[in-house]
Amino acid sequence: MTAFLAIGIWLSLAAGGGQTVVTPEPIPAPRAIPCYSLEAPARIVEGWWDRELDSYRIPLDSIPSRTHLRFTEDASVPYGAELRSRFGGRRGRKHKGVDIPVPTGTKVTAVFGGTVRLSAYHNGYGNVVIIRHPSGIETCYAHLHKRLVSRGDVVEAGQVIATSGSTGRSTGPHLHLETNYCGRHFDPEFLIDFSTGTLRAREFMLRREMLIK
Ligand SMILES: [Zn+2]
Repeated sequence: MTAFLAIGIWLSLAAGGGQTVVTPEPIPAPRAIPCYSLEAPARIVEGWWDRELDSYRIPLDSIPSRTHLRFTEDASVPYGAELRSRFGGRRGRKHKGVDIPVPTGTKVTAVFGGTVRLSAYHNGYGNVVIIRHPSGIETCYAHLHKRLVSRGDVVEAGQVIATSGSTGRSTGPHLHLETNYCGRHFDPEFLIDFSTGTLRAREFMLRREMLIK
């Protein structure tokens, strides 16, 4: 027993004085991505940047407590109809956007100008397009009938990006619209008055407590 212990100590000293030789490779943390930047680091692009609904995966406490958003252009949204479903609580599940009741085939326009980050089919969201805007926020358009843009496309506010539909987990034709920041969702009605289709303000203070996962 003593001999085995002595041999063990000798082997461990010979291997480097008993220090741990193998250190696990640290997993690159995505928290370094500035949410306000239009471009993401290449390693993120290669991974899930343009493939997943939430490409940020940032802990809530590392999102700035207050973010000053500025908008230089008008919003472009279908408006006039009463929203079918608002943001927030819905039968125990959080509704991450607003539902605008429009018939299948209605032209869907980019709310603001920006770059298409994702244009894909998703089980729940159906045909979905996500656009990143220079302000740092993203808009997400779901349950689309047809997607008319591809990732990387630069679009202007009001440009037709899709037609609305009822694909994915949807109970009928409508446009599900989200406003997102750092992979979290905030109420589009903070920003847009859907009865008139106009911005509520040109400058907007987004507080962390407005964000839900
Ligand atoms: Zn919805």
